[in-house]
Amino acid sequence: MKKKVLITDRFAADSLLWLQRQGNLEVVPGDHPAKLPMDQLVSAHALLIRSRTPIDEKLLQKARQLQVIISATSGFDHIDLEACTKWGVTVMHTPGANVESAAQLTWALALNAASRVREARALIESGEWQRDKVIGMELSGRTLGLVGLGRIGSRVAQHAQAFGMKVLAYDPYIEDRRFTELNVQKSPYEDLLRHSDLVSFHVPKTLETEHMLHRGLLERLARGLILINTSRGSVVSEADLVEALEKGWLRSAALDVFEQEPLDPASALLKFPQVLLTPHIGANSEDAFFKASQAAAEKLVNFFLDGSTSDTLPPRVPWYGALPPSFRLP
Ligand code: NAD
Repeated sequence: MKKKVLITDRFAADSLLWLQRQGNLEVVPGDHPAKLPMDQLVSAHALLIRSRTPIDEKLLQKARQLQVIISATSGFDHIDLEACTKWGVTVMHTPGANVESAAQLTWALALNAASRVREARALIESGEWQRDKVIGMELSGRTLGLVGLGRIGSRVAQHAQAFGMKVLAYDPYIEDRRFTELNVQKSPYEDLLRHSDLVSFHVPKTLETEHMLHRGLLERLARGLILINTSRGSVVSEADLVEALEKGWLRSAALDVFEQEPLDPASALLKFPQVLLTPHIGANSEDAFFKASQAAAEKLVNFFLDGSTSDTLPPRVPWYGALPPSFRLP
């Protein structure tokens, strides 16, 4: 009997074709994640999803044939893993697919902030040619502080060497040899904030990382620091960041992620010309899209071939215990 695979969101055309050519699969491409075909869901053995398809108990109750869910994403906040475990559904994701894109966006923001590209363009738009209003800062010789030295943090550390930067990192969950391999100096969190010219966050959303940058720490930052967050919005207290920007405790900030997404167009963050904002586009490249689709397709085929799994969820990582309770197994 063929296994029915329901695709609920955008999926790379080449990967879709490849799946459709597998003799043992019946592939049903979905229209839009908001319009899941209920008749197909009931008989689906597998779901290929992205972050716009929330998986909850209600959906699992209907999908009685479901064996596996594969999310072509790195984040998994949209999946109730506890419910999946309860219903015996295997869950996998594709965390490696967007590392290059997310690391590249980090540098797009860092370089933009350091050379003040956005403010320089605004000068031209306003008919001014006053270059002394946008004096930048060289990255070479300066210190980058990385909070989280996993997949993306490690890639950013490698790029930093090419800019001639010294790199500090705080990550209590990885082995010392990883810091050595990457030529990165291990640092306590507060020291890193005090001694960096640029700080970039690459941590997951957990109870420990929630508001891990808050008023008390922002007040004691190295003055003139550039802050970058491409990880999760909950990591930085936005209200405290606005106060820090108003008081001039920071040189600038660049954010791709927010406490509430989409960001409210009335957000106070929008009033600062030195703040760069992007709408969660860290994984938004054609390359990451293709890599995630293909990785998800291969995981699916292998699962039905011999039951093999990779990048299963919940993640087998030491920080998983610090996830909010709704993410955890009973
Ligand atoms: P990863 O799991 O490979 O790395 C995360 C690292 O954070 C791990 O090394 C872990 O030990 C460390 N960590 C966990 N808790 C910590 C804590 N309390 N203090 C310091 N370090 C801690 O993840 P990744 O693939 O590198 O992704 C990093 C973040 O970027 C995730 O939040 C991910 O969801 C986000 N992300 C965002 C986008 C985007 O579109 N902006 C794209 C991809 C990933």
